[in-house]
Amino acid sequence: MRKTDVLIIGAGPAGLTAGIYCSRLGLEVIVVDKSAPGGQLNIIPLVENYPGFPRISGEELARRFTKHAEAMGVEIVTNEEVEKLELGGDIKRAYTSRNIYEADALIIATGARRRKLNVPGEREFEGKGVSYCATCDGAFFRNKIVAVVGGANTAVSEALHLKELVKKLYIIHRRDDLRAEMALKQRLLSAPNVEPIWNTIVERIEGDTKVKRLKLKNLVTGESFYLDVDGVFIAIGVVPNSEIAAKAGVKVDENGYIIVDRWMRTNIKGVFAAGDVTGGHLQIATAVGEGVIAAMSAFEHVTGGWYAKRKKLKTVKIKLEEEEREGVGEELFKFKL
Ligand SMILES: Cc1cc2nc3c(=O)[nH]c(=O)nc-3n(C[C@H](O)[C@H](O)[C@H](O)COP(=O)(O)OP(=O)(O)OC[C@H]3O[C@@H](n4cnc5c(N)ncnc54)[C@H](O)[C@@H]3O)c2cc1C
Repeated sequence: MRKTDVLIIGAGPAGLTAGIYCSRLGLEVIVVDKSAPGGQLNIIPLVENYPGFPRISGEELARRFTKHAEAMGVEIVTNEEVEKLELGGDIKRAYTSRNIYEADALIIATGARRRKLNVPGEREFEGKGVSYCATCDGAFFRNKIVAVVGGANTAVSEALHLKELVKKLYIIHRRDDLRAEMALKQRLLSAPNVEPIWNTIVERIEGDTKVKRLKLKNLVTGESFYLDVDGVFIAIGVVPNSEIAAKAGVKVDENGYIIVDRWMRTNIKGVFAAGDVTGGHLQIATAVGEGVIAAMSAFEHVTGGWYAKRKKLKTVKIKLEEEEREGVGEELFKFKL
């Protein structure tokens, strides 16, 4: 049994940021993750839209987030999946295969997963022409030929973003119409560089070092055929990792995203959520921002606020190595928090 002020589930951008803030606010904090820290960052080849880092690999950004959190005194427990939550009382409990954690406040930052097509080539070419995020990767396909797979609102908004960048955009959908808002649909289908391919599914993604073509199948005629593309964006949905939270009574919307208010509070007192698991724009910067809000709300919950003095706060010891100190005056590190 471990006891802490704040328990955070998920060591992605939202969870690690919340950890940094909690620790610097003087709270004891543990972040538990079922795999390595960094979350989805670990699978992003290149990030170009996180402020302060014009070009950085997802892996390197994950390493920096992790080192930053550790330097601020955050305890990160990896390879431990939270399987069950008990959120009814004042003390929140999380059960993993190895431990039971008790905390005064809980932050759920379990992220989301992209729904996969599960066809040959999809895994092999991920980051080499197969993408799940147009906002993230669209710029790499400027003036190229790409396809979007999917036909609902997500696919249409991904396609609307891409049509401005690419030379030619195919929309591949297994039905004969898009299931999206009329205005968006019309704007997309009237664009001169957009061509829908209806009643069609992707059978296989082919290429050499990167994607070259798609093997498609028309569901009406049963015929298979090839389409040459430089990239394919798979937009058949995102699944929030909210199952354990929902089971414990946290309210989710019709798509499974945790419902929060602007302070990242869920329907259960003392339980907060941040990042992709709450929906909206699924980006690193938004996850980070929500992590900050969740941490500050958790601080209010645990201590009653700065002046309530309900709790004795810890002293934060910053452990920065030389490379992290770069560009910052030594005197700053002599400052006592
Ligand atoms: C291919 C790809 C490219 C992307 N490119 C960009 C980009 O260029 N720019 C950008 O801003 N965004 C990009 N994104 C989106 C960005 O990665 C996410 O928005 C961001 O990682 C969300 O952070 P998060 O902390 O909410 O969740 P995540 O990063 O998903 O982290 C959640 C963590 O929770 C853990 N977890 C889940 N369930 C449990 C459990 N039961 N017990 C313990 N741990 C659990 C997971 O292991 C994971 O580590 C991309 C995403 C993908 C998939």
